Amino acid sequence: MDFDALIERLKSIYGKRDFEKIMTAFEFAEKAHRGQKRASGEDYFAHPCAVVDILIDMKMDVTTVMAAFLHDVLEDTAVTDAEMAAKFGGEIVTLVKGVTKFDKLKFANKIDEEAENLRKMFLAIAEDIRVVIIKLADRLHNMRTLMSKPEESRRHTAMETLEIYAPFAGRLGMSQIKVELEDLAMYYLYPIEYADLKARVQAKLTERQEFINKVCAEIKVRLNEMEIDGDVYGRPKHFYSIFNKMRRQNKKFEEVYDLIAVRVIVNNIKDCYAVLGVIHTMWTPVPGRFKDYIAMKKANNYQSLHTTVFTKFGALFEIQIRTREMHEIAEYGIAAHWKYKNPKALDDAEYGERLNFIKGFMEAEVSLTDNKEFLDIVKTDIGQHELLVFTPKGKVVDLPVGSTGIDFAYNIHSELGNKCVGIKINEKMVPIETKLQSGDVVEVLTSANSKGPSRDWLKIVRTTGAKSKIHQFFKREMKDENIKKGREMLESEARHKGYSFSELLVGGRDEVMKRYMFTSDDDMLASVGYGGMSTKQILFKLIEHYKKEKKNEYKTLGADAALSVDKKDAVGGVMIGGYNEKNARFASCCNPLPGDAIVAYISKGKGVAVHRSDCSNLKGLDKERIRAVEWPAVISHDLTANIRVTVLDRKGVFSEISSLINALGFSLDSFSGSLTGTDAAGVAKGDIKFTVKIKSMEELTSLLNKLRSAKDVIDAQRF
Ligand code: MN
Repeated sequence: MDFDALIERLKSIYGKRDFEKIMTAFEFAEKAHRGQKRASGEDYFAHPCAVVDILIDMKMDVTTVMAAFLHDVLEDTAVTDAEMAAKFGGEIVTLVKGVTKFDKLKFANKIDEEAENLRKMFLAIAEDIRVVIIKLADRLHNMRTLMSKPEESRRHTAMETLEIYAPFAGRLGMSQIKVELEDLAMYYLYPIEYADLKARVQAKLTERQEFINKVCAEIKVRLNEMEIDGDVYGRPKHFYSIFNKMRRQNKKFEEVYDLIAVRVIVNNIKDCYAVLGVIHTMWTPVPGRFKDYIAMKKANNYQSLHTTVFTKFGALFEIQIRTREMHEIAEYGIAAHWKYKNPKALDDAEYGERLNFIKGFMEAEVSLTDNKEFLDIVKTDIGQHELLVFTPKGKVVDLPVGSTGIDFAYNIHSELGNKCVGIKINEKMVPIETKLQSGDVVEVLTSANSKGPSRDWLKIVRTTGAKSKIHQFFKREMKDENIKKGREMLESEARHKGYSFSELLVGGRDEVMKRYMFTSDDDMLASVGYGGMSTKQILFKLIEHYKKEKKNEYKTLGADAALSVDKKDAVGGVMIGGYNEKNARFASCCNPLPGDAIVAYISKGKGVAVHRSDCSNLKGLDKERIRAVEWPAVISHDLTANIRVTVLDRKGVFSEISSLINALGFSLDSFSGSLTGTDAAGVAKGDIKFTVKIKSMEELTSLLNKLRSAKDVIDAQRF
């Protein structure tokens, strides 16, 4: 990095006062990064300088340039945002924080890390679009120097660049950055194809260059005759687009590459059409290939005239004609905006609309809590806005391929979507799920009586925006009902799995809140209730956390290793408050049965003993090792009940009771009868004590009731 050259460039581009301001950021960042090295061994500060270099190519404003110098200071040095704010003000801190990534250590995996960082960036972009411009310049320099990173990180960065950053640059019209990002990513991701393509282009270079030179010279002569001031040159090659065309359209290299492109840059729109006219007299235009993007701008504000002509040499070539301003917008996209309009102008209606897709992601940020789904949607949405449709009044709306009239309605306004009752395409009523085609005129039929969107629409719509607005509708309209329903669903599912939801939530709450960005319990319950989130997703996290806690607990208490709380051990068994029931013993001192209040005692090396919580034996035990637990919904093995039946003293009564128990299908473990004497009223009594295996409280109650109604039985009780 040539620091002096950079300083000279800054001096020549910005006025004296601006230059001095910029240098304060230069010096601050230089000092903060001093001693740090990049993976390449170069001084770290060379990186922010290179990012600045890219941004001044685009003639970005002073604030952006300063923020670019400082962009890694918060992430990589000890400087705090308060310190930076005190020195440079809030606007610059907002920009820098927008570019700063979350700490890697916060995330369990790459998907979460990538998604959360994108969410953060989208939020920051909404505040100031310049965040993404710095971010793209940052990414561009990181891609240029990617070689010094390890193989795996190279692949990941290149993939992310190709899937997110390059299309993002495309959406913002920053084609120069997009093209370079794509070619660099291709170099790392498809090295063989890249080398092959490069060799093929090289082989044809001279021949091709001669042809281009000839064409350009001919056009130049005509411009001079017409006294039009303009630049004429061959369009530079873009490996990735050749590669993509070959792949997607299944074409040979020759078919794609031979389409030669020439660009004519002139001073005003009148000259554009004049040049077009003269070119059409020089060569014959190919029918159907003329496109007037000056009269009809592309969604990313791109403007140009395109035409393809036959030449006397038999080859076709494409000519693009545009003004200098259009050219800067074509190359730098939204970044060129700063040169032609004022920086605050981003709220201006035109650009605001062009940035609607970012708003869509931010709404998705709220409603799409699954990171994988969020990333998928961002990736597909960002790359494929290729559909241009019209409102009945002729306003252009750009949507991803595969969008429906409902997407269209929500794109215009959420109320239009919520009140939609039908769709007309080109003045004909169509089924609501009909996919739109480019050029369609779409009319949304609404009714004031509409009760709102249907849940089925979630399966039809294509855009993030529509999806999240439908989710929001259900969330808002039925919040209370959703909370109640969500709680019931979670409780029942947890019970089914052998857990208590409220107990799971105690330990795992924070993790779930953070993972899915819920703001409160109600928020979480409602999102389950309205179907935005599945019980599975929530419980999986909670149970995972719970098991981890239990495992740690076993370890600290030195309990038997066999007590591992892994899922595999619970096969056929159930968990009692996280303790594997198969490894739990039911204490014979109190024989707990379902329905009894119970606790678990974690004994050293002897597993878990489950006692009734009022068992007198607990008093002598170490309190530290006692845990409150709950019964699971299903018990896999038999439990023991001790029963005492009080009977009138009559000959044969003992054997009658014994037969009754057997007849009811219970097998007796022990049975004893004894006379207890005569009570005050002179009635002679006896006690029968026996032990049976029992599966549930209901079974026990039913047995006791049957015993009580037997002949000469005074009472039957557990003891
Ligand atoms: Mn950086």
